[in-house]
Amino acid sequence: MDKEVKFSTLALQSVRPPHTRIKPISPPIHLSTTYERNSDGTYDEGYVYARNDNPNRRLLEQSAAQLEGGAVAYAFASGMAAIHTILQALRPGEEVLLPEDVYYNVRLLFKEVFEHWQLKMAVADFTDLNKVEVAIQPNTRLIWIETPSNPQLQITNIQSIARIAHQKNCLVAVDNTWATPVLQRPLDLGADMVMHATTKYFGGHSDVLSGLIILKEQNDFSEQIHRLQKLSGAVPSPFDCWLVTRGIQTLSLRVKAQSETAFALARFLDQHEAIERVHYPGLATHPQHEIAMQQMKNGFGGMLSVLTKGDARTIANRLQLFTAATSLGGVESLVEHRRSVEGEGSKSPENLLRLSVGLEAFEDLKWDWERGLDEK
Ligand SMILES: *Cc1c(COP(=O)(O)O)cnc(C)c1O
Repeated sequence: MDKEVKFSTLALQSVRPPHTRIKPISPPIHLSTTYERNSDGTYDEGYVYARNDNPNRRLLEQSAAQLEGGAVAYAFASGMAAIHTILQALRPGEEVLLPEDVYYNVRLLFKEVFEHWQLKMAVADFTDLNKVEVAIQPNTRLIWIETPSNPQLQITNIQSIARIAHQKNCLVAVDNTWATPVLQRPLDLGADMVMHATTKYFGGHSDVLSGLIILKEQNDFSEQIHRLQKLSGAVPSPFDCWLVTRGIQTLSLRVKAQSETAFALARFLDQHEAIERVHYPGLATHPQHEIAMQQMKNGFGGMLSVLTKGDARTIANRLQLFTAATSLGGVESLVEHRRSVEGEGSKSPENLLRLSVGLEAFEDLKWDWERGLDEK
């Protein structure tokens, strides 16, 4: 392509199948686990064995690298498998700095798995840059950012943290699951790698579990990720990859529409007398609204959370269009009481409900909440 195209065009172009004589428009699904070797021992397209590489995964990885502006990307069987691989690429004795509000299972992964392997974890308030700077130790190797964060929608300044981190020789990883590259491109802001639970917005239809790591540069660290992907084998199936590349075709359209509806709902709930507080980075009252304005574009995402005045679980059960279920990023609206799901040790307030806004009409979703919050 001679023209530098917009994101939505790039997304469509990036998942077109490679040219063959059959010329399909939609990529074929290659289920074969193994590929024929030429008599001289070579392989025409480089495919040998499906755990190492296969056409559907390669298409997804190449697309993801383009969408995030990275050099290379690697696909995994879930978001957690991707996170696990990043941590596995670190060494015993090294430390990872995490924000206070972060996807719950990341903390659990440290506690239940990596602590035994002598990988250390420290936590700091990422909304205060001084606190981040002070928390970095000589053995800190990686700073893990999640913005907007789950479930309190805190915003971390990626550019500032990356600057501090690089002065101290730390790597920066951003979990970009909630924002997606439609709204935020962490590699452009100085991060070294981006991680996605493509189970969420990339897949977009609540029917595929998978993850991605996109790295800004191809270097020793990215090669280590690649080796771990091939050796550990926590890879998505060709059909999983196909579903995610299909999701990429409508990613931009979905995320923009979901962001618009979520913003309207956030404004509505923010004014509602039965709601104590709304966490949404688009609201001018959000503590890090200015940072969100700087580092996000096209909207502030389809996720929000609210603190209710009445019993949160009772309200969630009264909703009809928001289904009570975990996960997010699908076309259908979901509501979740995070504290119940996170269980013991949860830092989520008892009156917090997390909303994943789908593609339903705003008027209908508003009606659902009006009804749900009406005590009578
Ligand atoms: C869901 C999620 C994950 C984990 O992804 P899985 O595919 O469920 O393993 C990680 N980070 C964030 C922000 C998520 O929402």
